[in-house]
Amino acid sequence: MTDYDTVSADVESEEEIPEDHPRYQDLLTRHRIEEGVEKGITHLQGMHAEGRGSAFDYLLGEETIPSADAAERAAAAHLLLADHPVLSINGNVAALVPGEMAALADVTGADLEVNLFNRTPERIEAIADHLREHDATDVKGLEADARIPNLDHQRAKVDADGIYDADVVLVPLEDGDRAEALDEMGKTEIVIDLNPLSRSPQVADVPIVDNIIRAVPNITAHARDLADADEDTLREIVADFDRQAALEEAEERIRSGDL
Ligand code: ATP
Repeated sequence: MTDYDTVSADVESEEEIPEDHPRYQDLLTRHRIEEGVEKGITHLQGMHAEGRGSAFDYLLGEETIPSADAAERAAAAHLLLADHPVLSINGNVAALVPGEMAALADVTGADLEVNLFNRTPERIEAIADHLREHDATDVKGLEADARIPNLDHQRAKVDADGIYDADVVLVPLEDGDRAEALDEMGKTEIVIDLNPLSRSPQVADVPIVDNIIRAVPNITAHARDLADADEDTLREIVADFDRQAALEEAEERIRSGDL
């Protein structure tokens, strides 16, 4: 028996998870979601969503496949070209990548907006505080003074000067109904979701089939790389990206990849 077998997901702090553990990312992710639930920023159902993601990530080989890297570069180009980019934050996103989302917002000039499926004022406030603790400067989502058409009242709430007004939105781990409703509003939608068959990546202009833990820092790295690129170069990257091929390559890897 190796030491690995003795590591449970039930650790006190993430430093206790050995970085050379073969399932390091999975243990880290579970730990962060658990902490998120304890802090009141993640709904208990977030653990279920995480479990689904974890299974797909296992089948993907827990790595950023080439088509996901291309999607992450296209996402960076879209965010840099946008007039008003907004990054949407739910309870799982806040638990997993708060500082990384703040860094992406900083590099691309995007707004951060808290947008919850199970919305309560306490959770919105807790998430906004958590993001500020991770260097986010301006957090939207507290006004909720506009509505996404064709969605029920609670899930439709957004800020008038945030997601409602955005031309490009990054919606990681998004619920399928809301992803469809945002698409119908004509927004350019970037979705991060490990399940290529889920409705959210299916309606996305840029479906990123990758773990959010790897995807967000990689979009930021591409955005830094492209910061001085001219508009034609950015438009070429956007035009060259093939969303259907990205979805098919991810599905193919999940169904037949070597583990
Ligand atoms: P839909 O309504 O689109 O069918 P769903 O019911 O599959 O969505 P949920 O169960 O809410 O959605 O799960 C959210 C999605 O987020 C799942 O598809 C899951 O694969 C994905 N997911 C969970 N954790 C991660 C992660 N760490 N990185 C990327 N995607 C993730």
